[in-house]
Amino acid sequence: MSGLQQSELLGLSLQELTEIAEALGEPAYRARQLFDGLYRQRWQSLERFTTLPLRLRERLGSSGFTIGMPQIAKSFVSSDGTVRYLLSFADGESVETVWMPEGDGGEAGDGSQSGDEELAEGKAWRRATICVSSQVGCAVDCAFCMTALLGLRRNLTAGEIVGQVLAVLAEHQADAERERVNLVFMGQGEPFLNYDNFMKAVRLLVEGVGIPESRMTVSTSGIVPRIADFGAEQVRPKLAVSLNAPDEVLRTEIMPITKKWTIEKLMAALREFPLRNRERLTFEYVLLGGVNDDVRHARAVVDLVRGLRAKVNLIALNPGPELPFSMPSDERVQAFQSVLTRAGIPAFVRRPRGRDIYAACGQLKHTTELVQLEGA
Ligand code: SAH
Ligand code: SF4
Repeated sequence: MSGLQQSELLGLSLQELTEIAEALGEPAYRARQLFDGLYRQRWQSLERFTTLPLRLRERLGSSGFTIGMPQIAKSFVSSDGTVRYLLSFADGESVETVWMPEGDGGEAGDGSQSGDEELAEGKAWRRATICVSSQVGCAVDCAFCMTALLGLRRNLTAGEIVGQVLAVLAEHQADAERERVNLVFMGQGEPFLNYDNFMKAVRLLVEGVGIPESRMTVSTSGIVPRIADFGAEQVRPKLAVSLNAPDEVLRTEIMPITKKWTIEKLMAALREFPLRNRERLTFEYVLLGGVNDDVRHARAVVDLVRGLRAKVNLIALNPGPELPFSMPSDERVQAFQSVLTRAGIPAFVRRPRGRDIYAACGQLKHTTELVQLEGA
């Protein structure tokens, strides 16, 4: 409380806020009011916390506390309604967060949607998915991903992860508790390489913001030791794993992390993973034309996945100018899918979202000049 250092309230748990209240000689219920204002009301400045006495707001301010809400630096709107936000933090770093109204192309569920509900006045969406980043850039270096080109710049704090969701919800005037908002942790970064901050953010999103864990999915490139930790969590999103190739040699070529954690180790960890009632694992498979999209690859995926309660999401490569791969043909995508479904493995072809504004999977790289893309 020296007042010398600036510190952000977003990202603090109720317990941590209680410690601050106590240190300031305030009763514990003040912490609950702060928690509610931060996460449920999404108040973006201390002045808005009118549930607190003015004296306390001033003391928080003079002690160096700020809210720490990321700022929307830029936004790009796609012809399909997707919006890619560039959100910036206090130190000048920024990440991308994507808003996808009306369905999510399969990331968060089975795509079922009733379609005949009345839309509230002024609402252009029935449900929406927010794609959240966990790091600035990424260290994993997958050959087909534009985020990899940034390298890892830094981890995000729990507050910066939650703040992305709050900033985007506020922009769309969404009520996360009452409306169907899904979260996918599939933006920039590898969530399991920023595990503690990511999991803290999840707990704040559940307890503070009010988004049920059943509406959240996290995707990992296969950080094996964290898969067991994740399985042991009381509160956790659903798990998706980026498989992308069915054999060690090919996967090592396109996902060098396979050298460290082999497919064999990955599958062993997934076979131990405690799925809940009716829960399924998701495997993501990015189809790269002529590289991993042959029916023989599909048969090898069947052999790997057999016996697991799982589904496969097929994603045709989202192209980028620096990526040395091409899109698969529709015929090959369909042939690949039917090998899986005929073997009894549910397989969905994901519709790309926001390709024209570089908002689709693997395209998050702070692109600000938009060029015409092949097939976009
Ligand atoms: N780092 C995590 C989560 C973010 S990436 C992970 O890799 O799982 C989210 C998904 O986008 C992953 O399944 C990844 O394989 C896929 N992806 C990456 N680059 C892509 C591209 N150019 N086209 C299509 N999907 C891509
Ligand atoms: Fe990182 Fe995921 Fe991109 Fe691989 S696909 S570089 S793990 S963000």
